[in-house]
Amino acid sequence: MTLFVLVTNSVKKINILNSNKYLNMEEVESFLERLSKLTSDALTLEFIGDTFIEGKDMVHKIYLVKIGDPRDHILYFDCGIHAREWISPASCLYVIQKLAIVFEYKNYILRSQKLIKWRPLLNYQWHFIPVLNPDGYFRSHEPDTDGEDTNRMQRKNMRPLKTMNITDDIAEKCYDEGGCFGVDLNRNFPSGWGMGHKSFIQESALPWTSVYKSHKPLSEPESQAVHKYIKKHRQKILSAISVHAYGREIYYAKGYLESDHPDQIKGPQRDLLREFAKYFNKALDYRIGTVSDLLDETNLCGGATDDYYSTYWKINISYTIELDPDISKFQVGFKLPPKEIKPVGKKLFHAVLLMARKMDQLYPHLKKYTRHGRHHKIRQGSSKPKRYQDQDYYRLY
Ligand SMILES: [Zn+2]
Repeated sequence: MTLFVLVTNSVKKINILNSNKYLNMEEVESFLERLSKLTSDALTLEFIGDTFIEGKDMVHKIYLVKIGDPRDHILYFDCGIHAREWISPASCLYVIQKLAIVFEYKNYILRSQKLIKWRPLLNYQWHFIPVLNPDGYFRSHEPDTDGEDTNRMQRKNMRPLKTMNITDDIAEKCYDEGGCFGVDLNRNFPSGWGMGHKSFIQESALPWTSVYKSHKPLSEPESQAVHKYIKKHRQKILSAISVHAYGREIYYAKGYLESDHPDQIKGPQRDLLREFAKYFNKALDYRIGTVSDLLDETNLCGGATDDYYSTYWKINISYTIELDPDISKFQVGFKLPPKEIKPVGKKLFHAVLLMARKMDQLYPHLKKYTRHGRHHKIRQGSSKPKRYQDQDYYRLY
């Protein structure tokens, strides 16, 4: 048998992800555990926290997947912060498995001229939080009663009303509003927290809305886990990307300010954000801009992870990617058929490869392996989419 056949056969054994269905939380965990055992040279699994809240009857670990050499710089992704956006964790798991295979066969790739295009991936470490809102994700897989999709459409985390820091008046009103639980984790971060369009400012203070920001930033175990993680790794993080659905858009900061606001990101930093996004967008063909560039002003809202990575931690390459379907396909929306997992996962992986290539251009001194010639060590150390009628008028993806 040739080396190629041997490698192909052994890659098949690592290819364990079922991309024909959306995995539930238990299946995600068991996939990650199995993959980490099969690719132990390449991938390590850690926990960056859990979802424990006193008085809540559910708890999950928050996984962090690390692929690559721990000495290398990091491209970091958070996925599944909004529970119902199933294509986000599904695509991230697809990319995780691909990267694990590339790194497991690193030496083979470095010897093969045919596989030269994968080399840029090997210059970096890849970190993923595959499911940042595991309680919500668990709930979104619980069966709904006939004709309902309340569980499936879970967006927020699972903080119970009794543990919320709210006034009696507001708590009283929760009963009239059909109940309150959960905080929108992607409105709970301390950059532009509670800022945005006036409708958002009102809605995000009310615990029965989909965009409840909580009584203070970083109040939630999930957002605290992210905060702790970034603090620990900040010096090595080159980019931070939040993977959401849907809309086919790539957003960069600041998502709570108008395009022409004096505090909006501009100049060379904005040029870099545009240039980097345009490069990896060759794989995606999405729209690129700030929220204000791409959507109606009612969508302006703060407290999201992209703004937090970019302005709090000064990670200059930071985006929110809204995966398929297109924003006009709101009948499909969060319920993208499972047959789309593979195509979307594939293009996200292609985008990831382009990110690595662009990083090689931006940070040539970090490059260990090049796409040209032999491996060598040089390192010492738009148009706005039409508004559509929906029951919710603010940004809900
Ligand atoms: Zn989202």
